[in-house]
Amino acid sequence: MASPVAIAAQVGKLLRGRALRPPLLAVRSQAGHLTPRRWLNLQEYQSKKLMSEHGVRVQRFFVANTAKEALEAAKRLNAKEIVLKAQILAGGRGKGVFNSGLKGGVHLTKDPKVVGQLAQQMIGYNLTTKQTPKEGVKVNKVMVAEALDISRETYLAILMDRSYNGPVIVGSPQGGVDIEEVAASNPELIFKEQIDIFEGIKDSQAQRMAENLGFRGPLKNQAADQIKKLYHLFLKIDATQVEVNPFGETPEGQVVCFDAKINFDDNAEFRQKDIFAMDDKSENEPIENEAARYDLKYIGLDGNIACFVNGAGLAMATCDIIFLNGGKPANFLDLGGGVKESQVYQAFKLLTTDPKVEAILVNIFGGIVNCAIIANGITKACRELELKVPLVVRLEGTNVQEAQRILKSSGLPITPAVDLEDAAKKAVASVAKK
Ligand code: GDP
Ligand code: MN
Repeated sequence: MASPVAIAAQVGKLLRGRALRPPLLAVRSQAGHLTPRRWLNLQEYQSKKLMSEHGVRVQRFFVANTAKEALEAAKRLNAKEIVLKAQILAGGRGKGVFNSGLKGGVHLTKDPKVVGQLAQQMIGYNLTTKQTPKEGVKVNKVMVAEALDISRETYLAILMDRSYNGPVIVGSPQGGVDIEEVAASNPELIFKEQIDIFEGIKDSQAQRMAENLGFRGPLKNQAADQIKKLYHLFLKIDATQVEVNPFGETPEGQVVCFDAKINFDDNAEFRQKDIFAMDDKSENEPIENEAARYDLKYIGLDGNIACFVNGAGLAMATCDIIFLNGGKPANFLDLGGGVKESQVYQAFKLLTTDPKVEAILVNIFGGIVNCAIIANGITKACRELELKVPLVVRLEGTNVQEAQRILKSSGLPITPAVDLEDAAKKAVASVAKK
């Protein structure tokens, strides 16, 4: 079974889009920071292209779709050393494992031929890291870059933080590693600079962050300059997060962004058309894309209780409460703010195509959503799909009495629940009985 952290990362996709990486999870939850759903994701090479266009220093690189292209790219780079990196949306690649047997999604070598051989064991295979589902994610592309020596690795991120009502720069002199671990074990090594979005980043703030990150001498000005450029990029592209780990220095005295992860504000799509056109959907499951056709968000997990919810917050709460009662979610289908009866029907159809599903838990709060419409959708789906698994329904909110009457008078074997706790208990019990 996936660990609660892995589950949180999965469910976090509802909150942060397809991003499998849970960057700054600890820092975020400390701040009570939850961002709404985000769906645009770029691969590292795409993020680095944006960075380089804005004066941020990244290594020279090529992208390859085949081992042959990787070999050619390595030759063309004509570098002292080459770094080969699997392109997937999850982090922790360095310590990941491929189902080809190859260990490590990031490799350094001086020999272009080795780049070809390694790429052969990466492209077309699944890479499993701490942040992917356990079967991993298929690698379609690799990045072939000029490797640089690293003398020190720091961490830098710029994010929109609700608790600050604006952008905040987060940094740590202890980079390269899991920032969540640093936040837990050495919180004093996490530094923050709150930016006034109207005034912009001040020189003194960039300098102070560079100092806190441990850049000294001429490196300090260079780091401050890179931080300012990253901030300008962050604003210009409507990012909600730019994360660079490691933000490193080389023995030759250069500050370089060795890795990159950018998240975007979906509401800005209308003015970021070029960026949104790059959206990488290749890692989506077919069922996720099918769900998207009906304006539903699907997240697959590895338990046996299917969850039909509205809103990412309720999804997280449902996940927690199922766990607390000894059960495991099989998946999540988020209705969002949708209200159509046909969506409810499609949702049930999708949920029941998963053979792992042994029970369905509906947990819908009718704020905007009218519960009676949901109830009609449920009874219709139950009849037409000849539902074979126990169904527990908790509805609350607008028009709930009418909804309950519809469910009750349907004569269908639907188990009503009074609240979330009750619903979770009944769903877990229905699975345990089998
Ligand atoms: P992640 O594991 O998915 O976060 O991938 P990264 O791009 O951060 O790479 C993992 C690790 O590989 C980094 O933390 C670095 O220690 C190392 N690495 C990446 N690029 C280079 C490079 O050009 N030179 C050296 N010496 N190490 C690198
Ligand atoms: Mn990294």
